Amino acid sequence: MTVSSFKTIPAPHEIARHLAVSRRDFLRSTAGLALGTALMGGSPFVHGEAASKKRKVIVITFGGGARDQETFAPEGQENIPYMLHELAPQSSFFTQVMNQGILGHYVATASLATGVYETLNNFSAVPPEHPTVFEYFRKDLNRPSSSAWVVAPSNGFNRIGESEYRSYGPGLGAKVILPKHLLSAATSKAPADYNHLLRDNYETPLYTPQIGGGEFELQQMESILKLSVDDFKTHARTVSSPDELSVYIAKRLMKQESPNLLWITMHDIDIAHSGAYSLYIDAIRRTDRLCAELWKAVQAEPEYAGNTTMFILPDFGRDADEDAGGNGFQHHRTGDPASRTTWMMALGTGVRQGTVYDRPVQSIDLVPTLGAIMGFSPKLSQGKPIHELL
Ligand SMILES: [Zn+2]
Repeated sequence: MTVSSFKTIPAPHEIARHLAVSRRDFLRSTAGLALGTALMGGSPFVHGEAASKKRKVIVITFGGGARDQETFAPEGQENIPYMLHELAPQSSFFTQVMNQGILGHYVATASLATGVYETLNNFSAVPPEHPTVFEYFRKDLNRPSSSAWVVAPSNGFNRIGESEYRSYGPGLGAKVILPKHLLSAATSKAPADYNHLLRDNYETPLYTPQIGGGEFELQQMESILKLSVDDFKTHARTVSSPDELSVYIAKRLMKQESPNLLWITMHDIDIAHSGAYSLYIDAIRRTDRLCAELWKAVQAEPEYAGNTTMFILPDFGRDADEDAGGNGFQHHRTGDPASRTTWMMALGTGVRQGTVYDRPVQSIDLVPTLGAIMGFSPKLSQGKPIHELL
């Protein structure tokens, strides 16, 4: 290789910067967002103790991001009409969220929830090593277990609600609902009717962890969600994907439990691992619609309307087409800048609307940001609060 050909390969941070700027310019021209400056904070209207006690936060993550060419780019915009034209104009949008950790969905989601790049084995149902946002929230603010919930996409996520960290850990975390686990328990006599909703993992279909620990049990569905097993099964017949089922459960939770901290991880887009481009596109469109549906549910629930901040972010991206080590949209194996440079949208209470920021922030900055918003201290997190949201 000659020196000159070597020079033509841009450095990873230059590729990441380029991605962030093209997302930014696309959002400015297509969704009408204004360029934010580093000096701007969030909306000045929500301070004081009463406001912070009522404050609700909903975090939606996607396990399996999508590339810009199918989303936030001119050729992808038709797949995300709700995010682009309804949600983004109300949001503070960060176009350069860097994930410097391991690109597996469970470990990356655990990292988002602890604010530390976790190093646990992605394909093992173990708790995060560091305290989760749910533990900080509940312990620091002395909140009951009903105040923090996770709706998670696969059985491998059943330990995400709490770490085993000394002085935090068991009993202080979030309750975790696994809609697929509930559905398989509810339909054990006729699972074939529900197979399209029960597939647990798109990347390693043979990985089927044993469930243990404090997962939400079927009988609690009636007592907490006020949902009978029969009604649940009937509804499940009407949904086309696991994420639709998760959003249905999340809306029941909002109505019945009104948690202050609700974390929903979606996973439909990760069907891309199958290599079927049309299924990947369908999943992006569905996810787009489901995010808008949740935002609509926020407006419709008196406990949430007017005091909720919602965050939407993929756990990471997917491989670039041109990376020889990958296979384009299908996987996230190369660790290239496209698979590490994702985005985050924040909307609702305390958020400056219609503003796009392209400075780099990190996946692990989410937890310290939530701490600053809700009034708890994520002492072990290695990220920094995103001051544009405070
Ligand atoms: Zn994946």
